[in-house]
This record gives sequence, structure tokens and C-alpha cells, in this order.
Amino acid sequence: MLNIQGLISGYGDINVLKGVDLTVNEGEIVGLLGANGVGKTTLLKTVSGLVKARGGSVDYLGTDLLRTPPVKLLGMGIAHVPQGRHIFSKMTVLENLQVAIDSVRKRVHAKEKLQYVFSLFPRLEERLNQLGGTLSGGEQQMLAVARALVTSPKLLILDEPSMGLAPIIVQNMFDAIRKIADDGMTILLVEQNAVAALDIVNRLYVMDMGSIVYRSSQITDQEMEKIKEVYLGFG
Ligand code: ATP
Repeated sequence: MLNIQGLISGYGDINVLKGVDLTVNEGEIVGLLGANGVGKTTLLKTVSGLVKARGGSVDYLGTDLLRTPPVKLLGMGIAHVPQGRHIFSKMTVLENLQVAIDSVRKRVHAKEKLQYVFSLFPRLEERLNQLGGTLSGGEQQMLAVARALVTSPKLLILDEPSMGLAPIIVQNMFDAIRKIADDGMTILLVEQNAVAALDIVNRLYVMDMGSIVYRSSQITDQEMEKIKEVYLGFG
């Protein structure tokens, strides 16, 4: 579905991505792990066209994303939930969701979409008329993911959904992500929280200093231990 090859990008004189290859097949949850500042967010921003690529290619269902304006991605079925949530703080939960539904002009199934996200995140339904800015961090993250889901994407890109959340909330969030994948969504999950991510991904990549330093074909227990020890410093 998504095929990234030899991707190079950066800021100013510095290349942050030094030739990244990564693929996401339909129906998978692919994890991209790596420590602070290794270039994970830059990769997502380059794929979305927010940072200009300096080399390489990004193919999404036969379309060259590097020649596609960022505003078109949602209509093509790519929903990117950025780090830091970016919900509308002065709008209610329901208004946040409605804006997202309206943005893709597929209002016909609005009710079903809302029901679906409320089944994943019942807390949002309880807080329908609460302003986004007054939600807890975990609730804001739920809303950010829900807002992406109501646009009915084919590919959901999540940038550190666990950031700043308490462990129990992280668990709830990752249970929901697993459920979303079980319902047929394809997901690229960028995370620093390797322990939580390892539980739900089908395959993973580890990035260091702008390059992919490890890729798994499938996650076995043995492989999981190796990844933790060698690449993520838990040893
Ligand atoms: P984190 O998990 O902490 O967000 P990351 O792996 O996502 O880390 P990036 O945010 O992609 O890392 O940052 C990679 C490098 O690019 C860092 O050295 C960062 O300082 C630099 N960088 C990121 N954004 C910019 C920018 N707008 N201008 C200049 N340098 C930047």
C-alpha cells in the first residue's frame, strides 16, 4: 500500500533521513521505533509532503506522494495523526468530529462513523459537549485518533499516540489501535514506547540516525528480546 524507497530529506544543510526504505502492506500494523530525534517524525512529514524530499520515492497505491500536495492526502485515504494531537480546543468533542467528517464530504455515513468511534472510545461519547481544550491528555489523544477515523481512511498514520500518557491510558489506546486494525485498517505506528508497540505490531522497523537499522519480517518472542536489548537499550 505504502512503499518508501531511498528517502532523503532534512532541514537546511543537514540531511536527517539518509535513504530510508519502508513498506506497509494492506491490513498490517507496521511499527517504526527509535529513540528521540532519530528522524521518525521527519519521515512522516516527508511522506505527507510537509517536509520536502531531497531524494527517493514514496508510492501510495500507485500514486507518487512526493508529487501530491499535502491537502489531497485525506481525500486519497491517508489520515495522519500528528504528535501533539492538534485538536480544536475551543470546539466541543462533537464539533471536532463533525469538522473532520465534513472535511471529506462523505457525510452520508456520519452517524455510523460516530457510533464506531464511540464504540472504541466510550469516554468521548460521555464528553460529547465538553470543549476539546478541557479534556485530559488521554481523552485528547482519543479524540485525535477518532477524528482521523471518521474520515474513513485506508491508511492511518499515528505519530507517538502514547506520548505523555499514563501507562493504563497507553494500554487502553493500544487496545483500541489493535481493534482498529482487526476491523481492517492499515496502520503505520511511530513510537518511542517500544514495549507497548511490540505487543500490537505485525512487523517493525527500528530507525537510528536517519537510517533503518533493523527490520523484522514477523515478531517472535526471541526477536522481541533481541530488539529490546540491542536496539532500544532495555538490556
Ligand atoms: P521525537 O520522537 O523526539 O520527535 P524523531 O525521531 O521524531 O524524535 P525528528 O523530530 O524527526 O525526530 O527530528 C530529527 C532531527 O531533525 C532532530 O535532530 C531535530 O532537531 C531535527 N529537526 C526536526 N525538525 C526540524 C526543523 N523544523 N528544523 C530543523 N531541524 C529539525
